[in-house]
Formats: sequence, C-alpha cells, structure tokens
Amino acid sequence: MTQITLSFPDGSRRDFDHGVTAVQVAASISNSLKKQAIAAKVNGILIDLQRPITQDAQIEIVTDKDTDAQQVARDTTAFLLGAALKQMYPEINFGEKQVNDDGFFLDTDKKPTQVSVAELADITKAMEQMIKDNHPIERQLMDKTELLAMFSADPYQSAIINSYDSVQIPVFKMDDFIDFGEHALFPKASDLKHFKLLSVAGAYWQGKSSNPMLQRIYGTAFLNDADLQADLKRRAEIKDRDHRTIGRDLDLFFVDPDVGAGLAYWMPKGATVRRTIERYITDKEIAAGYEHVYTPVLMNLNAYKTSGHWAHYREDMFPAMDMGDGEFLELRPMNCPSHIQIYKHHVRSYRELPIRIAELGMMHRYEKSGALSGLQRVREMTLNDGHTFVSLDQIQAEFKKVLQLMMDVYNDFNIKDYTFRLSYRDPANTEKYFDDDEMWNRSQGMLKAAMDDLGLDYYEAEGEAAFYGPKLDVQTKTALGNEETLSTIQLDFMQPEKFNLSYVGEDGQEHRPIMIHRGVISTMERFIAYLIEMYKGAFPTWLAPVQVKIIPVKNELHLKYAEELRQNMRQKGLRVEIDDRNEKMNYKIRDAQTQKIPYTIVIGDQEVQNAAVSVRKYGEAASASEDINMFVDSVVADVNNYSRT
Ligand code: ATP
Ligand code: ZN
Repeated sequence: MTQITLSFPDGSRRDFDHGVTAVQVAASISNSLKKQAIAAKVNGILIDLQRPITQDAQIEIVTDKDTDAQQVARDTTAFLLGAALKQMYPEINFGEKQVNDDGFFLDTDKKPTQVSVAELADITKAMEQMIKDNHPIERQLMDKTELLAMFSADPYQSAIINSYDSVQIPVFKMDDFIDFGEHALFPKASDLKHFKLLSVAGAYWQGKSSNPMLQRIYGTAFLNDADLQADLKRRAEIKDRDHRTIGRDLDLFFVDPDVGAGLAYWMPKGATVRRTIERYITDKEIAAGYEHVYTPVLMNLNAYKTSGHWAHYREDMFPAMDMGDGEFLELRPMNCPSHIQIYKHHVRSYRELPIRIAELGMMHRYEKSGALSGLQRVREMTLNDGHTFVSLDQIQAEFKKVLQLMMDVYNDFNIKDYTFRLSYRDPANTEKYFDDDEMWNRSQGMLKAAMDDLGLDYYEAEGEAAFYGPKLDVQTKTALGNEETLSTIQLDFMQPEKFNLSYVGEDGQEHRPIMIHRGVISTMERFIAYLIEMYKGAFPTWLAPVQVKIIPVKNELHLKYAEELRQNMRQKGLRVEIDDRNEKMNYKIRDAQTQKIPYTIVIGDQEVQNAAVSVRKYGEAASASEDINMFVDSVVADVNNYSRT
C-alpha cells in the first residue's frame, strides 16, 4: 500500500497508509488523544475524523480545547436539527445550511405552514432525545446519481447536489437521516451538550426575491455552558438595542414587505421624532448660511445621463418610467442634479459664493433585498442633503465649516462613538468612477490635507468613494455590529463640468465652481435607526414623542386639573398625554416607564391643593413633589438644552 507523510504541529513527521483517517492518526499517538479527538485540521481545513486522508499534509488533531471545536459543535447541531425536523415533518425540504462565527442556520420549507418560533422548544426536545439515543453518525461516499434520486422530491437539495462537480459526494448518515457535503461533526451525538435554537426568519432561496421564501432557523452551540450563557446574554443585549425591536415596541415605525420591502411607514410617535429632527437640522443649517429648497423626486432621465448616474450608478436606481411620448422620468437616487438646476437658474457671481443649497431630499435607491434592514437601509429615504458651490480657494474653509457643523450637531445629540474614513476610488477598478486620474489625485490629496490640517484621526479606504469624487465619511457601529456611514462630505469637480456650471469672477470672466456634497445627519431613516439604538429607545426630552405623561389618581377628582395642566404645557410647546384609562395607578406608572417617557407625573388631592406635581423621571425609582410652575420651566429648559436632566 502507498504511504503518505503527515507533519504534526511540533514539527515531527510520520508515514501512514494512504487513506488513513484522523481518528486512526490520533489513536497512533495515544489512546487518550483518540478519546479526546473531535475533528482534525488538514492543511488548515477542518475535516471530520472519518474522512480518509489521501496526500501528504500538515495535520492537527482538534480537541475540545481548540476554538475550532465550536465549529464542530455547531455543524453537529445543524445536522441534528435537520434529523429532528425530518423525523417530526417527513415532508419538509431543506435549503442552504451555514456554519459561521456567529452560530449556524438551516433553511427549511415546510408545507403547509413554515416552522414557527413556538415549535423550537419541541424541536429542541427531539434533538435532545437523539443525543440521548446516541446512534452513530457515519460518513460514506455516495454516487451523485443515487443521491439525486434520493432527494428528487426536494428541489433545493437537488439543486445543491447538482452544483457538485464530483461523481461521488460525502454523506453523513444517522438512522434514516442523510445529510451531504463536507462537514466536521462530533464522532458521537452525545458529545453535543451546549446548544440553543435561537430564532426563525424568512429567507429567499438563493437570496433572490423572485424565488420562494424559505424559513431560516438560527442556532448556536458551544463547548461549555459558560460560553453558551455568555453568548445568549450578548444576544439579548443586542436585541434590547435593535432599532427594529424598539421601533415595534414603542410603535415608532414599520416596514411591511407585503406593501413594499424597504419602504418605511412612520407611525405618529416615530413621525414626531423625525419632525423634531427635521425642524432642528433645518434651523441649524439656515443659521449656518444654507438656503433650503424643495425639488421634485422625479426628473427627466436625461439629467442622470448628463450627471453620470445612468452610466455609473444605474444598478442602484429604479427603472425609468416610459411616459409613452418620448419622455422618460426617473425617481432620483441622489439630489445633486436637482440642486444643480437651482444653481443654474440664475447667473451666479463670485460675490455670492459659497452658495449653500440644502433640502430634506427624498430619494429612491433599489437596494438589494438581502441588504435591507429596518430603517437602517431602505429603498425610499430622505437625506439631510446639501450642496455647496465654491471657488477653488474656498474649498478648505468650507470643508472645515461643514465639519464644524457636523461636530456641533453630534454634540447636541450626544453622539461620541464614531470614526472618520477617507474614502478613495478603487485604483484596480477605475471604470466604476469618472475617468480623470488627475482630478482624483488632486481631490483625494485635498481632502487628506484638510484632515491633516485639522489634526483629526482617520483611516483610508479604497473603493468607498462616490463615482464622482472622494469622501470623508463618519462611520458608526449598529447594534448588530455592522459599520454604517452616517455623515459624509464629498468633493466633486465632475458634475459642475458635466452640467457646465459657471460663475462670473472678479475678472468678469466665467469660472467653474466646485461642488461639496454633504449630508450632516445622513438620511432621516438611518439617523433615527442609529439614535434608537444609541438611546435604547429612551430619547432625551427634546426628542421624546411623549415628553410628559400625566396620571390622575382618580379621574372624577383629578382629571380636570390634569387637563388644565396639559393645556398649560402644550402652550409651551411640550408633548403631553393623560393616562385616564381605568387601570391601577401602578400599572399606569409602569406602562409609562415601558414607553420610556422622560417624565411621569401623578396628580392626587395634595397636588391639586398645593398646585404641585409628583414627578418621576424615567429610569428613577423615586418620585419627588415639585411646584407646578417650576416643573414646567424645568422641562422647557431640558428641551432647549437638548439634554435629559
Ligand atoms: P452606503 O455606502 O451606506 O450605501 P452611499 O455611499 O451610497 O451609502 P451616499 O450616496 O453618500 O451613500 O448617501 C448619503 C448618505 O445616505 C449615506 O452616508 C448614508 O448615511 C445614507 N444612506 C445611503 N443609502 C441609504 C439607504 N439605503 N438607507 C438609508 N440611508 C442610506
Ligand atoms: Zn450630492
């Protein structure tokens, strides 16, 4: 028999028979290693203990002390999940399966109804029984044709089998259940002890929205209970901050794929937060010298051909509407060409520069359905957009002014956790961008010099620029740990050229302005998603949809006083609600806390007599009696200072 040479982590090498398995290798070292062995790593790839090794390789035996063993635990859990589901629902079909650093998932298609969260407990029980039974899991090779025949009723499994090039495909078998593909599973089901099925969510087969929607079951597994518990705690914390969960619990917004994926509906409370921010940023920008405008969301497609969007950004745009008379209308993906029309509408003089045009501009982008996430990434969005037209020697000063505005705004919202990213074009993929090397080198250099000049820390990222120019992006982290851009400042020599923009200079000649695109608080959607997660839904008073909740102790005695109080506070611009439901007072107080309302005030006999209120601040257990006027003044001051206390 031919021999192969295996090299071990300590540098030693030994010869084995061709086709030796990792469990045999472990046994040849020591009996205890054989017992501890869970899987092996051959040339860095995780394999199961039963797979024959057929060439010279580096080998490492994986035991429960290695973090790679987590992968094995998760793969085994996914296998047992499949086995349990097949036992419970023999007609079920399976789609994609993935094991990753975050756990695993298995896609399922169960008729007539999909697997629900409520079923996870029963499925877990069935899996635990299988672990107890501890039937062997055996690896074999099967002919592709035989496997195809076996899975002929399952269109997804058939497609996956067909994607294999080889004639023989490895399968893992436990009783009647068969799963295929290269996996590294525990040698015995009973080795699996610490797993959890987490959640279910819809997922399109192959990620395409034209395909059937399957049900994705998520889970995770660890090698010990402490790690599993720590992970479950981390997940609970994330869920606690997830803007989608809070958005539902506080009735702020919803997105319903049945009426349009990625299209947000703002409920009255969410709309109040949004309106407050829109008013705030508009006022702030007007004070900073911006002129706010309104421009249409529809534009003649020719404008996007001129701007270069049609050539470089088309896959993110909705298809143009053919009006039947030769005109094509496009839902705008960006506001720049619209603001360029405002600039072009008059002859401009150097004396007017910088001209700062701003708008809460609604845009539409055809984001991939898999990328959509609550309000964070949507298909219809309203950007706090602005375009400043400057002369060459004004770029640096204007850039600093925009940054200053950004920092002021971040300060008002108490945003501290962000990094600066200088986004350049991808030098290996220049066809995605306007083709002008000199322009790119110059504008990238200018942005970098401005940042260095200000002494700000940043990192550089190739391939993140807009197609028309480099950007300075402000990067933040979402609750789920993804990095997202909030603010952005972009330098653009291109669109002024394409639209032939000019101003009359001091010399009486025509000159070309440069554009600075900037979004200070990003889109209303992404910004509010970010704020919800940052504040965990407990908005500071100035943003809170309801700022004060009044609870009369007895409606018949105290409601009138509560109504007067509400009227008084409303006149001062505060958002106040009375809870006059026939519920226990403690229940109402708890409910106001669940709704994360900044101030809850209780009105009883004493309060009416003394023109006082009993105030409880959000998150505090104790309440304090305060003079009514002093209380109202303090809430107004709170609102004006953008702060909670
Ligand atoms: P991203 O890289 O996040 O897709 P982008 O580089 O395409 O964004 P810009 O064209 O610079 O974005 O848009 C301005 C701002 O609008 C972004 O910085 C981001 O904050 C926000 N934004 C972009 N796309 C979306 C979206 N689909 N949903 C919500 N907000 C978005
Ligand atoms: Zn723009």
